[in-house]
Order: sequence, then structure tokens, then C-alpha cells
Amino acid sequence: MALTAAASAREILTRLHDVMAKRLPAQSKLNSVVEIIGTVLDSEVCSIYLLREGLLELYATRGLAQAAVHVTKLALGEGLVGTIAANVETLNLDEATSHPDFAYRPETGEEAFHSFAGVPIIRRERAVGVLAVQHAAARKYADVEIEALQTVAMVLSELIANADLIDAAAGASTRVQSTAAVRVSGFKLVEGMAAGVAVFHQPRITIEHTVAEDVEAERHRVYAAFDKMREQIDRMASQAEFGVGGEHDEVLAMYKMFAYDEGWSRRINEAIDSGLTAEAAIERVQQRTRMRMREIDDPLLRDRMHDLEDLSNRLIRIVSGKLGTAAQMGLRHDSILIAKNLGPAELLEYDRRRLKGVVLEEGSLTAHVIIVARAMGVPVLGRVKDVRQLIAEGDMLLLDVAEESLFVRPTTAMEEAFEAKLTLSQKRRAAFARLKGELPVTKDGHRVTVMVNAGLRDDLAAMDLTGADGIGLFRTEFQFLVSATLPRPAEQQKLYKAVLDAAGDRPVTFRTVDIGGDKALPYLNHDETGEEENPAMGWRALRLALERDGLMKIQARALLEAGAGRTLSIMFPMVSEPWEFDEAQAIFEAQRTWLAARGKKLPAEIRYGAMLEVPALAEQLDVLLPKIDFLSIGTNDLTQFLFAADRAHPKLALRYDWLSPSILRFLKRVTAQAQAAGVQVAVCGEMGGRPLEAMALIGLGIDRLSITPAAVGPVKAMVRSLDRGALIAHMNDALTTPPRALRETLSAWAGDHGVELA
Ligand code: PEP
Ligand code: MG
Repeated sequence: MALTAAASAREILTRLHDVMAKRLPAQSKLNSVVEIIGTVLDSEVCSIYLLREGLLELYATRGLAQAAVHVTKLALGEGLVGTIAANVETLNLDEATSHPDFAYRPETGEEAFHSFAGVPIIRRERAVGVLAVQHAAARKYADVEIEALQTVAMVLSELIANADLIDAAAGASTRVQSTAAVRVSGFKLVEGMAAGVAVFHQPRITIEHTVAEDVEAERHRVYAAFDKMREQIDRMASQAEFGVGGEHDEVLAMYKMFAYDEGWSRRINEAIDSGLTAEAAIERVQQRTRMRMREIDDPLLRDRMHDLEDLSNRLIRIVSGKLGTAAQMGLRHDSILIAKNLGPAELLEYDRRRLKGVVLEEGSLTAHVIIVARAMGVPVLGRVKDVRQLIAEGDMLLLDVAEESLFVRPTTAMEEAFEAKLTLSQKRRAAFARLKGELPVTKDGHRVTVMVNAGLRDDLAAMDLTGADGIGLFRTEFQFLVSATLPRPAEQQKLYKAVLDAAGDRPVTFRTVDIGGDKALPYLNHDETGEEENPAMGWRALRLALERDGLMKIQARALLEAGAGRTLSIMFPMVSEPWEFDEAQAIFEAQRTWLAARGKKLPAEIRYGAMLEVPALAEQLDVLLPKIDFLSIGTNDLTQFLFAADRAHPKLALRYDWLSPSILRFLKRVTAQAQAAGVQVAVCGEMGGRPLEAMALIGLGIDRLSITPAAVGPVKAMVRSLDRGALIAHMNDALTTPPRALRETLSAWAGDHGVELA
């Protein structure tokens, strides 16, 4: 065959375009399609099989017996056609009968034909049918012919969808690749259960038009989209704000390589030559890459494939002008969000009433997005592999984070088991809620203070719902993260006042803004120091606030005014040296004087505290302690610095244990030193919200915890079942000559001593 791929595909596409434009019944259109393809490819047989009610039904044919149309049906995986659909792969055989999957169907009269080529008709990454050609002579089809068939299959998928031929079946039974229910596992990030439909944070665009009206116009659209995409990638690289945690540089370098890859743009151009629209051409090339890559079993290459998928989707979004995330388009049902990773601000954009759960391909326990999700009460399962291959937009999902499970397209049995467990966990939650009136007092009579971490207005109700002792950490930066612009002073003051009002007599500790790191604000220029290699150790929190003191002055005034007539507790994040605390306090004191001079009513008392998050500060506690009213240990940051292990790095998420002797000894020493100086100590990191870890902290002599609201019930139950004196003695021994597996030792002790660990 002398035709090039583009020429033969283009000839077919031009003719198909005319057929599609006609007002004909769908069946007549399909009949015309098989004639056109058969003629142009000079093939005696051309057939279209479509998936209806789980079976591939012969819908139209030229060359096979017409009596077989709507009669011949093959199950997925049955015969050559079923194999093509089930594996979403192309077959090209010179002798069909010699293939192990060949299934003879006498009604078709196909015994006359030897060669066979078939390609899947794909919609939303799944096969919805098969396009096959057969020839009497035994010969393999040429690559150009296969290419042409694949291009035509794309157009057919549009025709079929528009003609409603996969109508009712488009839901459940057209899913060929992994139509079955599957359970996938992941890593526990925020516990909880949720049911909802799958929504991709970066939605896949369904391509509406595949055949181009004007090839040159399509070419220009692709050129422009490539330019824009390269611009975006270059900008990401220069901002270093891309993604959250780990491997930025590597990923960006790879993105850049693909974005500027001549081969990729050339292949898209060739697909446009064959008569496809820009969107269809990009998708066509992606489909081909996907099929090729599936044959290569190399995890590294598969990762790269994700990057290319990402870019390909980005290009389609740019070309079709649909740039928004799912949040911007709005959630329409109860949804479970799927993303590679998210920033905290991106998560906060979602409608909290509809967002039921999150599934991430990456993610680690103390990344800020996870803290935000925990605060929002949204369960999160992390490090789920191949989500994009396994899940399609709109699939029903059941999330059970405690079991580290995600059920995709669940069976009735899975749904029933899920429901039963949900009822049980609701009962347990109700039991914890009943504890709200009970005090967290140990069996040997020691009162532990259990407060909540908060940051959003909606969190305030949690204090009453859980019966917590107050707010031990109010993350003021959350207001900055959810806002599109810098929150105005009046807005800040209003929120702080609402927090104090909700707390009533209970104490509240406000932490001044901790931005930078993985909490970059789009409206603040974070680039002053250039690209940050290690944002967590970079220009963030107090470091940024002392330099940009305008921001802190405004916040100080808002806090002081909101706290008029009450006790106001202020703490500063990431204090690394005592002078930083002095400077921050001086800013507040200057604002106090300024307000007083203007006759403003001021707080009755101001308490100043420091967060201990940077290990260096521990070496200067003797200098710091006399200056402060309280110390709050932020174990999220502290432990990442103690172990030199990025808290957002997915590969390190499981590596270092909070219950390691290094961390516990460090905490014990600091606590003892602060208490000896008469300074109140609290722990406000995520560690305190896990019952076994909280028990260990109490065993170190810490008796103030500020934790995520959902953990208050379980931690109270643990406290009330604990003999603190016995625990302290046990931990003293354990830390003197620590076992390698301290977690197991502590957990066994808890078991032996009847400590309730939820
Ligand atoms: C911490 O680091 O432990 C902490 C409580 O602060 P954040 O998690 O907000 O950084
Ligand atoms: Mg911190």
C-alpha cells in the first residue's frame, strides 16, 4: 500500500466527516463507516463491535455475513475481539486462527479470511468497542494501515458517543479496562470513611470533536498551546512553588524535557495532518504512547509516563480553554478527590459540604495539606499507585482509611460491609462524643489538659463538640491561605474576635502567621531570595515575618484589638534563637503602645510564648525560658529537623518514628528544663493526636496537648484508662536503655495495663 498513514487516515476522515454531518440513523452511519474504511484500506472485511451490556456485539460489517449483525456477541476477553477490548491493545495477525484466543463464530462466515487486524475504540481511557479488518490473503497489515485504523477508531468513539450507541451502557458496562470492582491500598494520612464519586483535581477533558474542519487552524492552535505550556513550565521552574514536597527539580526537569521534545510535537503534527482536531491529535498520540508503554515493564518508565500524561492533559486543557481545577468548576455530588498531590490552598478551595475524601498518589503525614484536611475532617489516603489507570472520573468509590483501602466500583457485598463498618464507627464516634462532659484525668488522679488545634472559622464548633479545654494552637495563616488576597486588618480582627468569643473562658493561643515553606501565598512575592531548595528550612514563619514586619504589625494590632479586656496568648513559630523572640515581642509591644496612645482598649493580660520547632533553640533554653510565659513544642517541624527528613517527602513518610528514643529523649530533656524554670509546656504537633504517642508524651511529664479535634475523644479515653505514675516509671527505664523497637514496647505495656488505644 503506497499511502502514508496521514494520507489514508485523512481520506477516511474526510469521508467520515460527511457521514457524521448527515442526518442519518446511527446504524446507517455505522454501515457507511465500514464501507468507507474497507474501501480505502482495500480490505475485504471491516467490522465494528460495540460494547453493550457487557458484551461486544457485532454492530456493522462489510464482508461478514449480514445475518451475524446484532447476533454475534463476544464476552470481554473472548476471541480476538474480546481480547483487544479487554487489554485495550491492538492485534495485527497474518493468520488469525493460529492466535490462542481465536474463537470461531460460524454465523459470520469468517473462515474465508486469514489476516486480521483490530484496534480498540477508546473513550475515557477505556475500550467501548473494537474496529477490525480482515483479509482473505494471509498478510500482516502495514504500520501505516494500523495507524490509520487507530485514528479512525478515535473518530468512531465520538460518533458512537454522540449517537448514544453506548447510551445506558456508557455507565457501568462500557468500562472495559478494569470494569471489575477493585480494592487498592495506600497509606493512612487522615483516618475516616467516605463514599463518593471520583473527581480528578485536574479533570480529564472529554474530547467532543475529533475531525478537523481546517487543518491549518488546528495546527496553529497546537502551536499556541505548546508555547503557553512551555511558558507555564518555565514559570514553575523559576518559582519553585510547584507541587508540594520532594523531587521538584527532578520532576520539573522531566517536564521541561517533554515540553520541548521535538518528537512529541512532531507526532502531534502528523496526527493533525491526518485530519484530527488539535485535542484529538494530542489524545491520539497519548493513546499510542500509553499502549507502547504498557508493553514495557519498568517502574521508572511508568513514573515518567505519569509525567507525560500530566503534560498531555495540560496541553489538552490549554488547547480547549478548559483550564480550571475541579474546585473551580464546582463539585456536583458527594465526591472523592483524586490528585497526585495538592497544596493546602488548593484543598481549601473545595466545597466542604461535597468533598468527602481525598486520594493522593503522594502525600505524607505532616504535610500542611494533610493538616488542613484533618482540620476539615476530610479523610485522606495517600501513596495510592496508578490511580489514573485504575479509576475513571465518575467511578463510585468507597474510602476506608483505617483499613488503608479504597474500593473502586464496589460490589454490593463491598458496599454492605462498608455500610456496616460505617455504622459501627459512627457508634464509636458517638461513644467518644459522650466523653465530652468527662474530664481527661488519669486513673491516678492527674489532670491532663486536652485542647484542639484550629485555624478555620468552622473549627470553632469543635471545642464544644469535643469538650476540649481550649485552643492550644490557632494557625492564623489558614485565613491567609484561603483568601485570594491579603486579608484586610478588619477581617483579621473579626476572625480573632470570633475565636475568642467561641472559646469564652477557655484559653486560646494564637500563633502568628507561619507562611512560606509549603504554605506559599500566591499573592505574596516569595521570590525575594530566589528559588528555595529547601523551603521548610527556608525563608518562612518568623524569619519572613521579622523581615516583612509590616505584615506582623498589622496582625499584632488585629490580635491586640480583638483581645481587648481578655487574656491574649501569642506564640511565634520557628523561633531558632532567643533574639528572634525578643524582636517579635518588641513588635507586639510597640503596637500595644501605639494603640494605647490612641485610646484603644487593650487585653487585660498578654502572654508570650515560643514554639520549639528548631532543635537549635533547645541549646539556648536557659536564655529563652526567663523571657517566655509558655513553650509549645511543634513536633511536626521539630522531628523533621531532628531526623533531617523532609516532612512532606513521600519516601520518608514511614521512615522515622515519633516513638524513637532520640525524639522522646529530646522531648523529655526540654520538658524537664522548662518545667524546672516554671514555664508551661505543651505539645501541639500531630503526634499528640495519636493515642499511643499521646500516652508516651504523658509518660515524659507533658500534660498539655493540643490536637486535632477528631482525636480528642480517643485521647481522653486513653488518659482516663492510664496509670500515669506507672507509665512514667516504665518510660524512665525504657529510655535509659532503649530497645530498638520502642513503639512495640510501649504498645505492649499499654496492652498489659489496660490502656484504651482507639
Ligand atoms: C508543628 O510544626 O508541629 C506545628 C504544630 O506547626 P505546623 O504543623 O503548622 O508547621
Ligand atoms: Mg511548624
